[in-house]
Parts: sequence; C-alpha cells; structure tokens
Amino acid sequence: MQPLRLLLHRQEIGQRVEALAQCIDADYRGRAPVLLAVLKGAFVFLADLVRHLHLPLEIEFVRLASYGTRTQTSGQVELLLGPRLPLTGRDVIIVEDIIDTGLSVRWLVDYLERQRPATIRVCALLVRSTARSDPALRVDYVGFEIGQGFVVGYGLDMGEKYRSLPDIYVVEGTA
Ligand code: 5GP
Ligand code: MG
Repeated sequence: MQPLRLLLHRQEIGQRVEALAQCIDADYRGRAPVLLAVLKGAFVFLADLVRHLHLPLEIEFVRLASYGTRTQTSGQVELLLGPRLPLTGRDVIIVEDIIDTGLSVRWLVDYLERQRPATIRVCALLVRSTARSDPALRVDYVGFEIGQGFVVGYGLDMGEKYRSLPDIYVVEGTA
C-alpha cells in the first residue's frame, strides 16, 4: 500500500465548502437550481455543500466513464447513468469532485446543453492548476486549486478505496 500525505484537513475543507455555499446562495437567490452531481466521487462534497445551502434546490446524479488518459490526445466519455430529471429551462449546477484534464466536464456541459437548460454552471471541489489555464474550460466555483499527484479521501477513491476518509490526501509517488 502506498503511503498517503495529508493535503487538505477536514476543517479547511469544511470552511471552504461553507464559503462556496454562501456564494451559490447569493448568486441563485430567488431561484431553485438543480445540483447535478457526478458519481461517485462528488457524493461527500455534495452532501456537505447542500447542507449549507438555503435555496429550494433539487438534486440529480449522473455517472460517467472517461477513457481519456494522459497519454492519449483525445479521450472519450460515456454516460453510464442519468440524468432523469427534466432539465429544460432549469438552472443546473454541475457538482464535481475534481477537474483534472477537464475532459469529462466539457463533455457533460455539451451533453446537457442539448436539453436546453436556462443556465449551466460548474462547481468543483478541486481543480488541477493545469486545467485552470485552459480557456475552453470555465469553472464557476472552485474549492481548491491543486498541483499534480493523485488525491484520495472525501469521496475520492483509488481503486474504490479511501472514499470514506474525512480528509484529502496525495498518494505518495504519484506527483
Ligand atoms: P478529467 O480528466 O476528465 O477532468 O477527470 C475525470 C475524473 O477523473 C474526475 O472527475 C475524477 O473522478 C478522476 N480523477 C482525476 N484526477 C483524480 C485524482 O487525483 N484522484 C481521484 N481519486 N480521481 C481523479
Ligand atoms: Mg469525478
């Protein structure tokens, strides 16, 4: 088992999630957005985020499989589940655990746009600094910008392990 190095403590994550919720509350005042979380990794972030929101929101899930790798120039994304809620005319907020290359979220925005929602915004707990510099990728709410290294905990897994850890760690040797 590879050792883990603490990256973000639960207290720091909690404070940041609360601050993101305050921004969303203010931006969507008087509206009822659909929070569309990407399974599985975003489930802990979503659960914490919605408990700090005071909006009359709805929750929906999608599950994606992405076959993009760092060694391929064009990755492919496949929709494995949902969404079932009609999104036409709705304010959709995509909730992601981490944006790495940005491939999945770009694909998802394209896919959702075909349903003609009123608005689509992206809320990601973690964004790789390399993805932030991509002008084609707009992330409206960012928890933390992080560098290289595979991260686990707070919903994020490595081979289905570590999702239940309350803090976020970098797996040693992956940076
Ligand atoms: P993308 O490259 O399309 O932006 O990232 C797609 C997905 O890969 C993310 O939503 C996440 O599920 C997974 N992923 C990317 N980087 C990491 C990481 O460091 N740790 C974990 N656990 N998953 C990651
Ligand atoms: Mg994900």
